[in-house]
Amino acid sequence: MSYDEPPTAPRRLARSNLAIAAAALVPTALAGWLVWEAMSGPASSAPPPKAVALPGATTPGGDGKSAATPDGRPSSAPASASGAPRGPLAGKVIVIDPGHNPGNFSHSREINKQVDIGTNRKECDTTGTSTNAGYTEAEFTRDVSQRLRTLLRGRGATVEFTWDGDRAWGPCVDERARIGNKAKADAVVSVHADGSARGNRGFHVILPALVKAGGADNSAIVGPSRALGERLVDRFARATGSARSNYVGDGTGLDVRKDLGGLNLSTVPKVFIECGNMRDSGDAALLTNPAWRQKAAQGIADGIGTFLKG
Ligand code: ZN
Repeated sequence: MSYDEPPTAPRRLARSNLAIAAAALVPTALAGWLVWEAMSGPASSAPPPKAVALPGATTPGGDGKSAATPDGRPSSAPASASGAPRGPLAGKVIVIDPGHNPGNFSHSREINKQVDIGTNRKECDTTGTSTNAGYTEAEFTRDVSQRLRTLLRGRGATVEFTWDGDRAWGPCVDERARIGNKAKADAVVSVHADGSARGNRGFHVILPALVKAGGADNSAIVGPSRALGERLVDRFARATGSARSNYVGDGTGLDVRKDLGGLNLSTVPKVFIECGNMRDSGDAALLTNPAWRQKAAQGIADGIGTFLKG
């Protein structure tokens, strides 16, 4: 997350690269839509999923695996005869917030604009941190989020992203919160990795402190967010084998903050997870390993699943 770090723009995240990626996604998504349209037909009686009616919410397709479901329905979940998804999380709406947009590096003016987070005003968004070798938190969070989406859809959940390669920068932290609120999400997880000092290791989950100020009132979600966070800590530790943070939370793996707009402005259960410290070489070796990232996604999915099943 590294909110204090100046935006240092890796050259390889130039806008041209993003444009190429976006151009590649368009035909993929279009083809997927055509397939879906052809298979479902005009007489489809399936009700529109929540994602369709959500301005600001994104459509899937960024990982190339879900392009056949431009309407937000899971592509990998087993479906009943009626077409409705089945699985232990069927009927649940989960919003995943990939913590930073790689495009933020080239949009300093936009992301430095101040937004209201209830307690005060703060930058719209941040670039996030990176490993010493240049693997960015933005890349990490998007990869883990996509893996997480696949896992949750496989369990029948409806999954939305706050952004998914569909915008040049942002969204701002207040909009990230609104997307979860509008979706009436059963759970929201914002995926991050930290940028702390060398030797600081391990993961932690950030819970919302009670905030009733300005336009923020998260009093209804402080309790359920803690429950979500505690389950995430337990399951993330099990899945990854990682230790709880040795520098935040006194060994609990939990932190509580009121300076994060994404938590202050949420009206649905929401937490952040800092999966490790990108600036520590030991943690960085894990964070840059795709097999470990799959375990991380598994741990988050398990934590959400445990929370939602009570
Ligand atoms: Zn972050």
